Amino acid sequence: MWPVRGLLRPSHRLPGLNAGWRSSRFQLYQPDARRDEPVGLISDFQRFSVHDGPGIRTIVFLKGCPLHCVWCQNPETISHLPEIMLVPNNCIGCGKCLEACPNSCTSCSDGRVQAVSRRRCLLPECGNCQRVRYANAINICGRYLTVGEVLEELERDLEFYCHTGGGVTFSGGEPFAQPRFLDTLARRAKERKLHTAVETCGYVQWEILRRVMESIDIVLFDIKHMDGKRHRQGTGVSNDLILVNLKRLDALGIPIRVRLPLVPGFNDNEENIQATAAFAAGLENVQALDILPYHRMGEPKWGQLEKPYELHGVAPHDREEVLACADIAREYGVEVTVGG
Ligand code: SF4
Ligand code: SF4
Repeated sequence: MWPVRGLLRPSHRLPGLNAGWRSSRFQLYQPDARRDEPVGLISDFQRFSVHDGPGIRTIVFLKGCPLHCVWCQNPETISHLPEIMLVPNNCIGCGKCLEACPNSCTSCSDGRVQAVSRRRCLLPECGNCQRVRYANAINICGRYLTVGEVLEELERDLEFYCHTGGGVTFSGGEPFAQPRFLDTLARRAKERKLHTAVETCGYVQWEILRRVMESIDIVLFDIKHMDGKRHRQGTGVSNDLILVNLKRLDALGIPIRVRLPLVPGFNDNEENIQATAAFAAGLENVQALDILPYHRMGEPKWGQLEKPYELHGVAPHDREEVLACADIAREYGVEVTVGG
């Protein structure tokens, strides 16, 4: 069921955690002269979320992630650059994107756009094919926005935040992969009295994590696997730094929700559930362990990115299986929820 071998091909680029404060390339990219504050690469906003922190929240999805989880439900957030998502079924055969492309990247068959040469594509500077599109067959994921522009978007829902104890959740991708932007955004959000949450995989330089935490009210922290070897198979990186960072965050006294994305055949065995629950229960500031059942809603996005989805055909757990995992975790005295 689980393709243990070949989970990560050698060609997978795993951007290191050493991006640091100054060197991440998307922070250097200035699309135009109006940028006099940090610019971030945003894949999307999700308004009225009730699953990613308390109350009603807006989620800001930042692009770029140092992990490459084979089950990732948001694969469009992994790359640190804008990229094309292709939906050939939407194509109406007008040919406008072919005419507009300066590098002949798009190709058609049967009158429909079927592929894009991502190697030749001139993103992020170009974007012509999206500008001329009529039918959403070519969609560019990733917009460079200033901190002020993101805050403007967040402030549209201020009324809901106030009445429900909600706020903003920074997610991704891995939001800490854009450290300077995230730090500034979180500080400015706090200045506006917004409640702030961050979802992280924890694979971050400690100094960056510690600094941003000054502006964060709660952390949603993923543990994908307690076994280092299995963690590397499923995500491309070791879990050493992740577990150390979780302990360090706990020592800061910041409220934490540990999240376990429950993936069939990968981390759903009793031993791993027990180890995860024991680790969470041993920390002082963990409010709960949230079990997030695997689903397949992200699979079409892998196709739109023209990347293989390695879990094709893997069936999600049924409800009883998920509840059984939750019961195992509860034996360790930690509060457990299903779904976050
Ligand atoms: S972004 Fe520009 S270079 Fe890339 S496929 Fe579209 S038109 Fe061609
Ligand atoms: S850490 Fe999250 S965003 Fe990054 S690859 Fe894994 S599931 Fe996707």
